[in-house]
Amino acid sequence: MSKRIALVTGGTGGIGTAIVRRLAQMGHQVATNFRNEEKALAWQKALADDGIQATIVPGDVASPEAAREMVEAVEKSLGPVDILVNNAGITRDTTFHRMSAEQWHEVINTNLNSCFNVTRPVIEGMRARKWGRIVQIASINGQKGQYGQANYAAAKAGMHGFTISLAQENARFGITVNTVSPGYIATDMVMAVPEEVREKIIAQIPTGRLGKPDEIAYAVGFFVPEEAAWITGANLSANGGQYMGW
Ligand code: NDP
Repeated sequence: MSKRIALVTGGTGGIGTAIVRRLAQMGHQVATNFRNEEKALAWQKALADDGIQATIVPGDVASPEAAREMVEAVEKSLGPVDILVNNAGITRDTTFHRMSAEQWHEVINTNLNSCFNVTRPVIEGMRARKWGRIVQIASINGQKGQYGQANYAAAKAGMHGFTISLAQENARFGITVNTVSPGYIATDMVMAVPEEVREKIIAQIPTGRLGKPDEIAYAVGFFVPEEAAWITGANLSANGGQYMGW
């Protein structure tokens, strides 16, 4: 397949790093954003030690202006973005009756409004070039809901609503838009959950273990090749069988 330019938001995180590696191994030029330059440079060096070159640019996906500048920086350095993975995300968990407006808005801004902020500056170019791949990293908890995560589940369910609308609007322009909904993956986000809660979660997963970041990267990679051109508006669950609904 031709070499494409990919932007993975939150590429320095647990799942993001695996996605960056996979897309690079598929032959693409990959960029991601950082908020802490020192941390990002160390991350970039670790990848380079493994033979993977990744471009890093500053960027906050929760801000429309910063997201636009991030896309412009990637395009200046590599060229127009062909593959976009909206992966950056956060949690601010608490039951809804205790949730502050700040906890609500922070999660909606970072996880859902980011899809507007980052996709809007790349979509017109993809339409003009008649090729694009957009993948949202949502969550099992956007499919089934989760106690203590009304903000997160609302944002993640919203990401798939975004996917299926964008898929319809852009299908004729050679652009596919899909969602990957991961189950519980062994990253910092999940390892921060108290061990006894984690054990209860694992007991609900038919495969009997947490997922690996590479297993989510594989699902993302599935949507990217030329051969995947007929697959759009899909939601691919990668969750060890924990939830088998939409
Ligand atoms: P991590 O916390 O390991 O990584 C999150 C990444 O997002 C980091 O690179 C972080 O950057 C970046 N980020 C956060 N906020 C912003 C922002 N405002 N602007 C730019 N970048 C930002 O999380 P995971 O790798 O575990 O999660 C990745 C995605 O997968 C998330 O969307 C998450 O909701 C989803 N997911 C994860 C699951 C899991 O079990 N881990 C399960 C289901 C879905 P920084 O280092 O600067 O904070």
